[in-house]
Amino acid sequence: MRKKIVAGNWKMNTDYAEGISLFSEIVNIVKDEKKGDQIAIICAPFIHLNSLAKLGGEAVKIGAQNCHQNESGAFTGEISAKMIKSVGCEYVIIGHSERRQYFAESDTLLAEKTKIALANQLTPIFCIGETLDERNNGNFFEILKNQLVNGLFVLSAEDFAKTVIAYEPVWAIGTGLTATAEQAQEVHAFIRAEIAAHYDADAAEATSILYGGSCNPKNAAELFAQTDIDGGLIGGASLKSRDFADIVKTFN
Ligand code: PGA
Repeated sequence: MRKKIVAGNWKMNTDYAEGISLFSEIVNIVKDEKKGDQIAIICAPFIHLNSLAKLGGEAVKIGAQNCHQNESGAFTGEISAKMIKSVGCEYVIIGHSERRQYFAESDTLLAEKTKIALANQLTPIFCIGETLDERNNGNFFEILKNQLVNGLFVLSAEDFAKTVIAYEPVWAIGTGLTATAEQAQEVHAFIRAEIAAHYDADAAEATSILYGGSCNPKNAAELFAQTDIDGGLIGGASLKSRDFADIVKTFN
């Protein structure tokens, strides 16, 4: 059975007090509503991580939104995977489209970040997604395949098995334009087929693939009902405790 995961991505939102308060609310609701072995994660700004990891307990796991590709050294202003792990974080988002777009993160760089995250026992949530132009041009499967091959499929089968993938069409992020359940399922099935082709059918079957992009309590049920969708990466709706918890509940 693949892991069912709902991960929130707070991006650059909430000051410290707001973050603690929002997270406490989320834990309080989610701890009673989350069932079975479903996993709820909040990926918060770096300055919150140490405190949140202590508050979340078993109910809500903690993730970072990025890490540096080096172990340590003269990289002023950066945060390493080892530092993230040291405060009790278990996950890290790698290759979010905002990192790719605004910080020019290439597939090669993202492969390095994924490797250092794994070397520090963090689970990478590796994001891929096409822009609106790429979707309209009809070459988006090729774009997505390149992101997978160059960023993720460089891993050994053993390391690949420790990763989570998130499909986030760039045109659906923060726009209110969700991919239809059929559009999302089509890409998720494609990703699973690529995993099977590169690794094997067992690896494809075992990999959790999350959908992200304007996912909310109204559309989550239909998206999560798709055969190849194993959960969501939630931006805007993870900043509202009730909305995030309702999305988590959708899986019950
Ligand atoms: P959104 O963001 O849910 O606000 O569209 C998703 C994401 O960027 O991870």
